[in-house]
Amino acid sequence: EPRVVRFAGKPVFDGAGRFRGYRGIASDVTAQIAAEQRAHYLALHDPMTGLPNRELLAQRLEQALAGVRRRDDTTAVLVVDLDRFKSVNDTLGHATGDRLIKLCARRLEACVRESDTVARLGGDEFAIIQAGVEGEHEAQALRSRLLRALVEPFELDGHEIIITPSIGVALAPDDANEPDRLLQYADVALYRAKAEGRNTFRFFEPEMDGRLQARRALERDLRTALM
Ligand code: GH3
Ligand code: MG
Repeated sequence: EPRVVRFAGKPVFDGAGRFRGYRGIASDVTAQIAAEQRAHYLALHDPMTGLPNRELLAQRLEQALAGVRRRDDTTAVLVVDLDRFKSVNDTLGHATGDRLIKLCARRLEACVRESDTVARLGGDEFAIIQAGVEGEHEAQALRSRLLRALVEPFELDGHEIIITPSIGVALAPDDANEPDRLLQYADVALYRAKAEGRNTFRFFEPEMDGRLQARRALERDLRTALM
């Protein structure tokens, strides 16, 4: 069994000045190191799905955008929100809802490349960073994979559940180059997809109403205030 030991000691010399070894204290810090690693993991991941959380997403987005500036390519941010998810909770219970969120997380992960990031923003909302792409057609292709992956019915407790997503997308550098703004724009596009009947996909467009953005921000603030 590997153990991690912290050792502090002084060299010991005999009467003739020969080195005889060290005298000091060795402590087994295996549990402490494991706890530190666990705390670090929890700070950056969603405990329910094991996906990166908002904090790690922001870090990864920062890295991806640095790459965009260096390499002159595109990074897409997709925000995915499940449609009418509340009705799953209402009809089948919160525990089943939780399991459905976990299964969705696995299916989303299966759609992306290893270098991409799938994060859980909270509730039934996920974000995907698709880094180093050529342009919006690759985001379109990912969108198609996501829709295909989620359209397959879920089997839970003998129930067959069908769930659809709405997806909003923003592109760097075309739409924005700062992580917060890019996420906000993807969210505005998602909001538009919801407004247009759900089970659909929208790219951010600068014309998307400023009032819509303000209302979305207000809703988000209210929700945060109530949590
Ligand atoms: P919409 O089509 O507009 O997205 O409707 P919605 O019912 O999916 O509602 P919305 O996305 O606004 O909110 C997500 C809901 O998911 C709110 C809450 O009832 C539920 N929810 C949030 N977090 C969790 C969770 O951790 N577990 C479960 N089971 N449900 C959650
Ligand atoms: Mg939803």
